[in-house]
Amino acid sequence: MRVHERLDELYAIGGRVGADRVAGTEGEDRAHGLAAGWMREAGLEVEVDEAGNLIGRSSEPSVWTGSHLDSVPFGGKFDGALGVVAAIEAVERVGKGAVAVFRDEERGCVGSSAFVARGALPECFLEVHIEQGPVLERAGAPLGLAMGIVGIVRGERTFEGHVGHAGTVPMLGRLDALVAAAVYILQVRDIATAVDGAVATVGVVDVEPGAVNVIPGRVRVSVDARAPDRERLDRLVAELGLRADFRLEPVPMAEEPIGALRAELQERGLPIVELPSGAGHDAATLAGAGVPTAMLFVRSLNGGISHSPQEESSAEDVELAVDVLAGALARLT
Ligand SMILES: [Zn+2]
Repeated sequence: MRVHERLDELYAIGGRVGADRVAGTEGEDRAHGLAAGWMREAGLEVEVDEAGNLIGRSSEPSVWTGSHLDSVPFGGKFDGALGVVAAIEAVERVGKGAVAVFRDEERGCVGSSAFVARGALPECFLEVHIEQGPVLERAGAPLGLAMGIVGIVRGERTFEGHVGHAGTVPMLGRLDALVAAAVYILQVRDIATAVDGAVATVGVVDVEPGAVNVIPGRVRVSVDARAPDRERLDRLVAELGLRADFRLEPVPMAEEPIGALRAELQERGLPIVELPSGAGHDAATLAGAGVPTAMLFVRSLNGGISHSPQEESSAEDVELAVDVLAGALARLT
């Protein structure tokens, strides 16, 4: 099928192991060039906006679909690219809709943010994306419906102790900042586990003075906390005792386009798995701007590994996603 050839072609750009299409590099430009050619072959009218986003319109362009073609360094074959090739294929098949390829998603949805800032929003937006997690593989489901994009809070906690000689200060009476931080890190795990759909991660631990023979006097830990809706995010942040240095609100998906995808899954007798998206996506930018938006996730294999050359989805699941997207486009237009 043409979709697989196109995924291979995008993946081959740069000639190294892994996707080599970091935003702003020649790799991303070449990918956009390929996609523009495929859009023209599909009979779409092609335009590039001021932010460099690539748009291809059919004669009936009210419902939009698409994704991004930039990658992380040594990225996977499906992240972003799958949503673009599926969109071109589906729009060509039904002869309706428009395809958007957004620039620079990986560093914070730069292209889609510029796109929504310009106004002239589509009536509706659908994004097909590899799940990038293990939920669908564990559920034995080829496709899933993203019910929303999680909200994210990031902050830091600092623990103070008393610096001392690792050999001469007895264990009793020590104030070891790293021991306090370790207790907190275990609490982070337990608190997030107790909030349905939430996750929280300590990814950075900074120990001062940081010497093998000195009792730690000061430890800073980073916390990244995510939850599917505002109520759960607020509860998580309060229980973690976190002051937010960064906050991104959760974005719900819209019932009408979700309904169109759900109807297509039902028609094929496929299981309906609803899940939150733990990662940000261009779809969240559009939904945040008020565009009725839905996301269709495609099962990740290899335990859900992503942002890696080991990222994998099966050919059958990809073809199913194109079918479901095309059906939903036809329903919504
Ligand atoms: Zn992506």
